[in-house]
This record gives sequence, structure tokens and C-alpha cells, in this order.
Amino acid sequence: MKGNKPEEPKKNSMKKSFSLMGRFFPYLRKHLGTEALVLCCVAVTAACDIALPLIVREITNAGVEDIASLTLKRILLICLFYIAFKGVACIASYCQAYFGHVMGIKIENRMREDMFDHLQKLSFTFFDNTKVGQLMSRMTSDLFDIAEWAHHFPEMVFNTVIKFFASFFIFASMDWRLAVCVFAMMPFMIILTKKTRTKMRDTFRQSRHQVGEINARIEDSLLGVRVVRSFTNEKTEKEKFSDGNKEYVDIKKKSYRYMSKFHSTVTMLDGTMYIAVVGVGAYFMHIGVTNPGDFAASLLLVSTLLGSIRSIVDFSEQFSRGITGIERFAEIMDEVPDITDSPDAVDIKDVKGDIVFKDVSFSYVKGEKTILNHLDLHIPSGSNVALVGPSGGGKTTLCNLIPRFYEAESGDILLDGKNIKDITLQSLRSNIGVVAQDVYLFSGTIRDNLIYGKPKATEEEIIEATKKAGAYDFISALPDGFDTYIGERGVKLSGGQKQRISIARVFLKNPPVLLLDEATSALDNESEKLVQESLERLSEGRTTLTIAHRLTTIRNADEIVVLTEDGIAEHGSHSELMQKGGIYSNMYSMYAVM
Ligand code: ADP
Repeated sequence: MKGNKPEEPKKNSMKKSFSLMGRFFPYLRKHLGTEALVLCCVAVTAACDIALPLIVREITNAGVEDIASLTLKRILLICLFYIAFKGVACIASYCQAYFGHVMGIKIENRMREDMFDHLQKLSFTFFDNTKVGQLMSRMTSDLFDIAEWAHHFPEMVFNTVIKFFASFFIFASMDWRLAVCVFAMMPFMIILTKKTRTKMRDTFRQSRHQVGEINARIEDSLLGVRVVRSFTNEKTEKEKFSDGNKEYVDIKKKSYRYMSKFHSTVTMLDGTMYIAVVGVGAYFMHIGVTNPGDFAASLLLVSTLLGSIRSIVDFSEQFSRGITGIERFAEIMDEVPDITDSPDAVDIKDVKGDIVFKDVSFSYVKGEKTILNHLDLHIPSGSNVALVGPSGGGKTTLCNLIPRFYEAESGDILLDGKNIKDITLQSLRSNIGVVAQDVYLFSGTIRDNLIYGKPKATEEEIIEATKKAGAYDFISALPDGFDTYIGERGVKLSGGQKQRISIARVFLKNPPVLLLDEATSALDNESEKLVQESLERLSEGRTTLTIAHRLTTIRNADEIVVLTEDGIAEHGSHSELMQKGGIYSNMYSMYAVM
């Protein structure tokens, strides 16, 4: 997916449009009954539109040929017939609009669910390379356009086809020369539609991408509002936003230019067609080959035809948006989840937590910088292993490979002797708890966030978990206790409080393996002490891999592994490594001086 790169206008061939429609068809298939009903309604309204010129023709001819035949009763009957027909057409029009739109929203809803489900399967690599704003725009405005297109497209095509054929036959029944004159203009219009349609679609695609960029910009700026304010960078943010917004205006201007060109051409053709029918019709009347009734009816039929041509214009705009939306939908759905369950993956039970890295290599981008190079490591079950080393050495990367957030390029990672690739992702991840420096809490209440670790947790379990995490006292002191609303990402809580909630969440999950990624490094001394105590309680009886920034916190670890860009430089207990006088002892001495 080209989520982050400006998208080049794509030349969508007819073949490609058809194949994209094929991607959409499974969604439409479930609603074919509704679609048939909607099309029947379209046929009724189209027939009603066609009936009026025929009525006018009937009345005019009767008036011209024998005015006595135009009795009040006859006029009344014709009018009543038309009113009754129009009444049915009104009901049909209501059903067409209502059922058509409901069908559209149902399709939109299904597509959005499929897209969301698919996004849940995609790996971190995908999200590392894709802007959330772009995804949001694909899931909202793109799908809305598809929904609109989904029901208007068949309606418009059907309506236009009916009116075109009906008009042609009526014209031909009146005078074939008039029919030829009117319909000879059609190919020009169709060619024009096709030509400008491609240009419009390209610019629509660009503007869609730009909306995604604007969304991404807004999201970045609003989520980072604290950083923006602390650097007093409001002006820079505004400028960056204005640039994106301006670019959007430019792209939109371009697409409106094509649209306006189109509209003005159609207006010109409208006039030409009218005057042609008036001129040719009047001449035919003059030479006696057309009667006044046919002349009047042909003028009204031209209006109906022009209405259809206008709906081709609307249709081509909507077609552009709908196809572009489907294309962008398909791009996401075609994104292959690169981390999935292998065909013979099994659930694991009674996990002890013995972890082995066997000759593991990893790089974020294939062929680029290797982060882990033929790494071997054993973390015995129930042990507490600490990972230390310079920033960028690959500590977090190593931790992320265990729950398969990223996939090792080569080598094996074993959990209780079983290759993690042969364990279902669901059961692997449910046996691993992660507490990271950057706590993510969902907007909602404290309870909502706690039970995220165990949706069916009882009140007693929640209380026990928060007590163990050292969070119970501060939660109880809040006005609404567990039901306190914590704001987006928990903005209403301190860093230490958030961290203790995240620890309680893991207590509830109760996994045998624990990954602690610099969980205390962003905290002040007081909070750090409290969180550290909670973490120690959490690690009891679990295999724990701790990435530590503050070295004093891991002195008691069973084993300390020093990971540098060149791999594992040294490992051993705190006292062994201090005696060795290597990297760890230097780091520790520097840390002690600080
Ligand atoms: P540490 O935890 O030891 O500080 P990391 O594992 O976070 O190190 O990072 C190791 C290297 O991988 C760094 O060079 C970093 O720039 C790179 N890196 C980390 N995350 C990503 C990512 N999502 N995509 C690409 N490179 C990454």
C-alpha cells in the first residue's frame, strides 16, 4: 500500500474498472433482491417520465385534427390517468431512495467490518509504514462513496437505458429523420464523457489521498498537543497544516476544472440539441411531414433525454469516486498479513515459560541494516533476565520477536521447546504480558481498561489485581473509583498511575511470560519506586525479560544480558559482570555517578 507516498494518478483501464467491480460484487450479491426491487421502482418512474410527452402528443393532435373530439371528459380522464400514474411513481421513487440507501449503508457497513478485521491481522510492519489518518479516510469517506455508488450506479444505468431506448422508439415512430437527427448527437456526448471522466477520476484519487494526509496531520497535531504547546510550535503546526490544506484546495480546483468543463460542454450540447429539434421539427412541419402533436412531444422528449444525459454526467462523477474508493479498499484488502498461524499451529497449555533464541537474525527491512545477527539466548522458565545495553542495540526488537509482533528473518524462537511459529498467535500472545514505557490506555473508565486483560473478571479479581499493582488506593480515592473516566489515552492520570493500571491489567491477564520494556524509565523517583514494587510482585513465579534503563532495578536479576549492535557482548549475574570490568561495569559505574 502506498499509504505514505503521494499517489500518482492511475490510468484505470476499462478492464481494471471491471475487475474492481468484481471485487465489489460479493458485497452486492447479498442484496440482489433489494436491487431488483429498486430497479423495478426505477422502471416505474422512468415510464412515468416518458408518458408525459405521449399525453401531450395525444392532446395536441386531437386539438389540431378535430377540436370537438377533445371533450372535457377526455381531458379529465387523461389527467386522472397521469395523476394516478404519478402517484404510483412517487411511491416507487420513495422506495427507490429508501431501500437503495439502506442497501448502500449495509454494504458500507459490511465492507468497513471486513476492512477492520483485515487490519487486525496485519503486522506491525504494515502500521510502521502507514499513516493512521490515511487508514481512517479509507474506512470512512471512501466507503461512504462506495455505498453511494453501489446503489446510484445501477439505478442511473438502468434509468438511462430505459429512457434512451423508449425515446428512440417514440422518436422513430413519429419520424425517423427526427430520431436520426437527435441520436446522431449521442456518440459525441459519450466520447466527451469518457474523455473527461478519466481526468476527473485521476484528480478525485489525488484529492482522496490528500484528505487522508490532512487527517493524518490533524491526528498527529492533536495527539501531540502537549509537545506542540511545550515547544510553543503552534505556528509551525499551523503552517504544516495550511500547506496540506492548500494542496488539497489546488487538487480540488483541478478536479473542479475538469468537472466545470464537462458541465459547460453538456450545457452547450443541451442548447444545440434543443435548437436542432426545434429547427428541424419546425421545418418538417412546414413541409408537412410532421404534425404539431409530434413536434410538441419531441420537445418534451428532448427534455427527458437531456435529463438522462445529465445523469450520465452525475454517474460518471460518482463512478470515478466509487471505483477509486473500491480501488483503495482493495489495496488494503490485498495487503497480505505476513504473520499468520501456520497450517499446523496448535494452542499451548500450561506454559512454563522456557524461551530459547536459536541463531536468530532480524532486520526491519529485508536486505537493510541487520538488528539481530545470529543471536543465541536461553531464558529458563521462571527466571528473571535483564537486557541492558546502549540505545539502539536491539533490546526492544528482541522482546517484540517473542509474541511475534515481528517475524525473525532466520533462526528459531522456542517456547517450552516448541517453535513459536507452530503455536497459534492467539494462544502464544495470551501467554505473554507486556508492560512498556509508553502505556496505552483506551479512552473510557479505569474498569474498561482493567478488564481489557480479562473481560470476564469479577469485582474481587479486579480489586485483587489493583491491590497487587499498588493501584487500589489511588483508584479508590477518585470520585467515581473504578468507574472514573480517564480521558483519551488516560490524560487525566499521572504517568505512575497509568503504569500501575497497565500492570494491574497484566495481573488480571496472568500470563506465565512477562516482557517489561523500560517500564519505569519515564517516571519520577517516587512513582518509579511504587511501580518497581508492583513489577516485582508481578514477576514472581513468571519468566521475566526486563529491559532496564535504570540499572539499579535489575541488580537482582538471575542473569543480565548486555546487548550491543554487535550482538550479546557479555552476560552473567550483576556481581559476575561487575568483576569482569567490561561494558556492564562501565555502564553501572556511569549510572551510579549520575
Ligand atoms: P533498543 O531497544 O536497544 O534501544 P530497538 O530495538 O528499539 O533498540 O532498535 C534497534 C534498531 O532498530 C534501531 O536502530 C532502531 O532505529 C531500529 N528500529 C526500531 N524500531 C524500528 C521499526 N519499527 N522500523 C525500522 N527500524 C526500527
